[in-house]
Amino acid sequence: MDFLQRFSFPGLPIRGQWIRLDKTLSAMSNYEAYPQGVKILLGEMFAAVTMVADNLKFSGAVSLQSQGDGALARSLAECRDQQYLRGIAHLTEDEARLQPAGTLADWLGNGQLALSLLPDKSTRMNPYQGLVEIDPAGLATSLERYFEYSEQLQTRLHFASIDGTTTGLLLQRLPDAPDATEATVAAAQDDWLTLTTLAASVTHHELASLAPQQMLLRLFNEYPCELYNPRKLSFRCTCSTEKSDQTLLVLGRDDLLALASEQPEIHVDCEFCGHRYAYDQQAIDNLLKRNSSALH
Ligand SMILES: [Zn+2]
Repeated sequence: MDFLQRFSFPGLPIRGQWIRLDKTLSAMSNYEAYPQGVKILLGEMFAAVTMVADNLKFSGAVSLQSQGDGALARSLAECRDQQYLRGIAHLTEDEARLQPAGTLADWLGNGQLALSLLPDKSTRMNPYQGLVEIDPAGLATSLERYFEYSEQLQTRLHFASIDGTTTGLLLQRLPDAPDATEATVAAAQDDWLTLTTLAASVTHHELASLAPQQMLLRLFNEYPCELYNPRKLSFRCTCSTEKSDQTLLVLGRDDLLALASEQPEIHVDCEFCGHRYAYDQQAIDNLLKRNSSALH
């Protein structure tokens, strides 16, 4: 089961999140065909958007999107309602074979990474998008900087990906209480330095293999730590027959009929989950009939 767990250190303005994903990743269409470096990158992107979504106080989606002139032309990882994930990578075909591994910067080339918050319409909140400066050290460091500069939150992020499983660990220094004194702020900052140093000592193998409780005990055994209930995560696509119908209707009646006459079935394939929506001649006729008033 894929899940995220929050934890805290009672009395300290420091929070943490732990996440492990595997089924969610392999449920992506074309996942098996992606190069190893892209599988790892998508795993980290999924972990990151889920951690951000977990802290939201409103319903909606969080996404990380990249585009660039490198082998990875575009990528997207999205978390909706704090638990449903979907994502995709588009590779430029020739270069994909040349680069079996690589960092975020290698894959993107000259590119951009953006973090978006998309509140549901019912919230009446505006969407937000921020650019994440790409650090040569990778996605974790890029996001640490982003949180520090855009949200004034000191953050430490560690990822480990082994055999199609991605595990993430995040520590974040929360703002001090309004009644905090100079002494308590200094003490909290000392604890932050100790905890982040301990977290940085986690090995790739430990992070990827230990259960959250064991890992917290191993890393922070001198600090009382509270682990909260797990939040289940799963792959879920938002494609539907209605959306697929709309994709075809955009073509217009004449082009759609022409297309239908050329082949026994028209297919609309979802690029996220691989689901195929198939339309035979009868289905096309019905679709046009149902939508006759909207079409010319
Ligand atoms: Zn789909």
